[in-house]
Amino acid sequence: MRLVLLGPPGAGKGTQAKELSKRHGLVHVATGDIFRWNVKHETELGKIAQSYMEKGDLVPDDVVVRMVVERLERIEGGFILDGFPRTVPQAVALEENLEKLERPLTAAVYFHIEEEIAVKRISGRRSCSNCGTPYNVEFDPPRVEGVCDVCGGELVQRADDREETVRRRFEVYEQSTTPLRHFYAERDLLREIDADGEGEEVARRLEDSLDLPARSAAPGE
Ligand code: AMP
Repeated sequence: MRLVLLGPPGAGKGTQAKELSKRHGLVHVATGDIFRWNVKHETELGKIAQSYMEKGDLVPDDVVVRMVVERLERIEGGFILDGFPRTVPQAVALEENLEKLERPLTAAVYFHIEEEIAVKRISGRRSCSNCGTPYNVEFDPPRVEGVCDVCGGELVQRADDREETVRRRFEVYEQSTTPLRHFYAERDLLREIDADGEGEEVARRLEDSLDLPARSAAPGE
């Protein structure tokens, strides 16, 4: 299964992609995470990306496309693209490259979320500085404040999750990424889900939209 997840910042794509990739053995490719890693390690790519990310702007298409294509060429099985494509030129480049590799997309899933709910989610968002596990101080807090349940690492807030930058990211999203719904609808690849609600509930909707087998009920469910 080769998937693209679409939706505004705060729609929960990253959380769902992590879960879905674990459950179905897919490789999770999150362009934002790759850029953050490169910024943290001060690589050449990180130096290019940082100035755009700080403002909430998009990194230029050619830089992102090159980075993603290099990754995809190394992936053998299925994958989930999270945060890519974000513009029509990126989607066209992806389509051309996957055609060359004879591995076309299975679906593009659009996550619907109201802006106020997304902003609330983003402002509570934290992640482990060590292993990257995501949390939300309001909706999904760690057992001990500021400490990762998985590895004990320190929880941090993303620099671009500040309110001003979030607003800019929404604006950029509206202009650049919204047209992708039309792009994938035309190719009959678009699925749409309601991304509001508990993580488990959204995960179920996501799997239903992809005709994946129903999740087995957890004890007590
Ligand atoms: P994200 O974690 O997906 O919200 O991405 C964080 C930031 O990384 C974005 O605000 C952009 O600056 C940059 N970025 C991530 N993916 C892309 C992309 N596909 N195209 C351009 N910039 C991107």
